[in-house]
Amino acid sequence: MGRYKYHDDWEISYQYDCHFFVKCRSLKDALWIASLIDDNSLITVHADCEHDGVKTTAHVGIRIREARGKSISEIIELFDIQVDEYMRTAEPGVYAIGDVVPTAWLAHVASKEGCVAAEHIAGRDPQPINYDRIPNCTYCEPEIGSVGLSEAKAKERGYDVKVGKFPFSALAKAKILGETEGFVKVVTKAEYDEVLGVHIIGPQATDLLAEACVALGLEATAEELGRIMHAHPTLSEAVMEAAEAVHGMATSI
Ligand SMILES: Cc1cc2nc3c(=O)[nH]c(=O)nc-3n(C[C@H](O)[C@H](O)[C@H](O)COP(=O)(O)OP(=O)(O)OC[C@H]3O[C@@H](n4cnc5c(N)ncnc54)[C@H](O)[C@@H]3O)c2cc1C
Repeated sequence: MGRYKYHDDWEISYQYDCHFFVKCRSLKDALWIASLIDDNSLITVHADCEHDGVKTTAHVGIRIREARGKSISEIIELFDIQVDEYMRTAEPGVYAIGDVVPTAWLAHVASKEGCVAAEHIAGRDPQPINYDRIPNCTYCEPEIGSVGLSEAKAKERGYDVKVGKFPFSALAKAKILGETEGFVKVVTKAEYDEVLGVHIIGPQATDLLAEACVALGLEATAEELGRIMHAHPTLSEAVMEAAEAVHGMATSI
């Protein structure tokens, strides 16, 4: 069974692998079969999994009229309507948003792109979307929530990076809930202490991510995020502690 490769952050992937190995070692004969059915109007991807003799099947359908006879890469190209930062196409007065433009296929991305387009049509001056700050959520167990640059991506861009990490095993609320697996990682640009990314694996990671989105949106520094008082005992304290950890100042470890 291959490594969970979805996440840019290797520690998140590693943590998830560990969880999968420990919790799912009873998974026998796990078998994922992906198939693609193209019936001219609907492309369906099937994923079959057999667990202890019980077979489950997931179907995901994407409706594309022009799909017949096209390869996957050609199908993806069908979605690639080029737009500018205000979601304007090359056709004057025509805007495009969501899955038909070459940005992440996510509901919240489509929604904000729609707002930008609508505001621009209404003659306002909307702020273009910063695609470096798209929240990504994986509703697995433990949950994964991530926003901004991973440590590796930040280094690829040539930034001098500082990282702070805080484990849920050291957090009171996580102990109360009995969900101590995982951690919060804060990635910063060393020069300005600016928060570049926050990566969370653990309890309610997808909800905890909201604070990280605000921090990135307001260009907060790790010091600012760490200084903000968080209620105790809450899971959100892990974000504060990870920000403090960037400067070796986490209170609880
Ligand atoms: C199984 C699945 C799970 C997903 N889970 C998540 C998730 O957890 N989180 C997340 O953020 N994103 C998720 N997504 C992705 C998300 O749903 C899409 O990125 C988002 O809906 C894109 O919005 P959109 O407006 O571009 O397209 P859509 O939401 O697909 O809206 C397009 C609309 O246009 C209508 N339409 C199509 N053709 C015509 C026509 N000819 N005339 C009139 N109307 C037409 C359709 O009926 C539809 O209502 C998921 C997608 C799938 C398939």
